[in-house]
Amino acid sequence: RDEVTTLVISEWREKEKKTKVSFGKRTNLPIKEQRETLPVFSMRDDIVKAVRENQFLVIVGETGSGKTTQIVQYLYEEGFNQQGDQTKLIGCTQPRRVAAESVAKRVSEEVGCKIGETVGYTIRFDDKTGPNTRIKYMTDGMLQREALNDKEMSKYSVIMLDEAHERTIATDVLFALLKQAALKNPNLKIIVTSATLDSEKFSNYFFNCPIMKIPGRTFPVEIMYTKEPEVDYLAAALDSVVQIHVSEGPGDILVFLTGQEEIDMSCEILYQRMKVLREAAGELIILPVYSALPSEMQSRIFEPTPAGARKVILATNIAETSVTIDGIYYVIDPGYVKINAFDSKLGMDTLKVSPISQAQANQRSGRAGRTGPGKCYRLYTEAAYRNEMLPNTVPEIQRQNLAYTILMLKAMGINDLVNFEFMDPPPASTMVTALQDLYTLSALGDDGYLTSLGRKMADFPMDPGLAKTLIASVEFGCSEDILSIVAMLSVQSVFYRPKDKAVAADQRKARFHSPFGDHLTLLNVYRAWSMNGSSKQWCSNNFIHERSMRRAQEVRRQLVTIMRRFGHEIVTCGTKVDRIRRALCSGFFKNCAKRDPQEGFKTLVEGTPVSLHPSSLLFNKNPEYVIYHTLLLTTKEYMHCVTVIDPRWLPELAPAFFRASNPAQLSDKKKRQKIVPLYDRFSKDQNLWRLSAHAETK
Ligand code: ADP
Ligand code: MG
Repeated sequence: RDEVTTLVISEWREKEKKTKVSFGKRTNLPIKEQRETLPVFSMRDDIVKAVRENQFLVIVGETGSGKTTQIVQYLYEEGFNQQGDQTKLIGCTQPRRVAAESVAKRVSEEVGCKIGETVGYTIRFDDKTGPNTRIKYMTDGMLQREALNDKEMSKYSVIMLDEAHERTIATDVLFALLKQAALKNPNLKIIVTSATLDSEKFSNYFFNCPIMKIPGRTFPVEIMYTKEPEVDYLAAALDSVVQIHVSEGPGDILVFLTGQEEIDMSCEILYQRMKVLREAAGELIILPVYSALPSEMQSRIFEPTPAGARKVILATNIAETSVTIDGIYYVIDPGYVKINAFDSKLGMDTLKVSPISQAQANQRSGRAGRTGPGKCYRLYTEAAYRNEMLPNTVPEIQRQNLAYTILMLKAMGINDLVNFEFMDPPPASTMVTALQDLYTLSALGDDGYLTSLGRKMADFPMDPGLAKTLIASVEFGCSEDILSIVAMLSVQSVFYRPKDKAVAADQRKARFHSPFGDHLTLLNVYRAWSMNGSSKQWCSNNFIHERSMRRAQEVRRQLVTIMRRFGHEIVTCGTKVDRIRRALCSGFFKNCAKRDPQEGFKTLVEGTPVSLHPSSLLFNKNPEYVIYHTLLLTTKEYMHCVTVIDPRWLPELAPAFFRASNPAQLSDKKKRQKIVPLYDRFSKDQNLWRLSAHAETK
């Protein structure tokens, strides 16, 4: 029992097949009764009636009240799929893929069907729906893509925009798209659900539609703050777990951390500590939750805790509202979240570990009061909560790069972005940057309209830089190889490095090294794996996560389908890997950095100091010019996934952005840099208005 109940990621991954977790079964209520005890059940008839009578409806209810899993089922049971002789879908969007997948699975159990039959889901690179699907869960991003081909959403009778309070970019864009769709298609019903009370705004936006409130059922939560700010929140969080476990009464613990690496590491540390403590303390079941979590693992977090044991769940902000886990009495909240934000000072996207908002802090503490009175340990001071945290989270649309979104909108023929009905319009500077990005990628022409390249880029559900790279790779004769690289970039790290075998793991990894950097190393791994029959054995021999490879293979397969559908040729360059570097450069030229004697590296665009991440195999190798895939801000701005390039390619591959400088006209400093970004070619603000004015006059 010992070995099967305490899970730690690395061991779990190894034993995964052998281990069958057999928790003592808590007597569970039958599904029907479980459904009927949810708060939303008391409102069933009112909800059905309100949907019948209104085209737009806002529903507010605490997390866990049953909005996501129940409402669409009620509508299904009441025949909302049928419109005359036409059968339509009831759709429900989720901001996160894990939520879409796990909720669909739960609902298929409740309905009593296999996933993909009556109940299905669609997330990027994974479609589990079929001809008999009636209830479809999907990420908001996927529904946004559907609007590309079907502006009126004619496949749907009802669309529920769930978790609207999260205000992801895709949900914000869908507000406007669905409002338009519903005006054109009177048979389409729109429901907006939210866990927070700022629902007036949603109602105002949808013509002052009715708001329904699901009565809450929560217990008081005692909130504790630290007296002094914590220097190391992770250590403090893990100490708190152990402390609660040895000294507090029964009840599971939920810890909010910022990302997969941090969570995996914490699982290890806790596991080691529990080994020492095991005799003294009761059993502690350690479970991670993050978006890249494999599905088998997802179902384990919902298994009831066996008597005498305690569960600790280490989760990202997914567990704030998207996923509800019963039985939590203790919440540990270090007060941070990792967000993807566009930094207009730096002129680029960065992943940042940032303080949460007060609203998020309250959502987090609320998780402790669902089953009984709970406790929340805030690892920050009360003063920090009151004075330093923002009251509400800034909507993504106001802080992230909009290049992808604008590319989609333009592909839908929406050119007048200034008059697009955003609930909260993004700042003009953010729009301009996105337009400029698309322009420099040659996705937009001088007139502000989509070029044919831009239209092709919109066919790929991914960052415009990656889409451009894929399309460019056809021309460079290396699309086969770029497909593998793009697929590998879309999964979590494939390299596995157990502490006790670190040296062996590093030696194996070194065999894949490419002197040109990380992208080609990933390609070497993928090629080697394919040549060895894509085998599991090969993965374990080489310290590679098999699961990540399978996922990359699946992503690649889907990308191949898109490439074929749109007639892009798939060819390999064999050993002529310069072509691959050029293709990468044509999508990521903006992420170019030059070695700097003082700072490590400086970006060419804004001259921001950046460093090679220690995980890059170019670390300590001092290349002159590189491009990187992403920047991660922790203690410094770190470049992740880096490739050496020849700077002479820049003006050639991105003529709208770089030109080879004329030495005669340059200052000495610029001469030393040899290449200067052509960045102030147009005034930022003027350009926005020029683009939109064109849209109006044409
Ligand atoms: P809301 O959307 O209002 O936050 P949900 O409909 O997601 O509420 O959840 C209702 C109930 O269903 C919760 O008690 C939750 O624990 C349970 N539930 C949701 N997903 C699963 C799952 N995959 N497995 C087991 N229970 C689940
Ligand atoms: Mg929900």
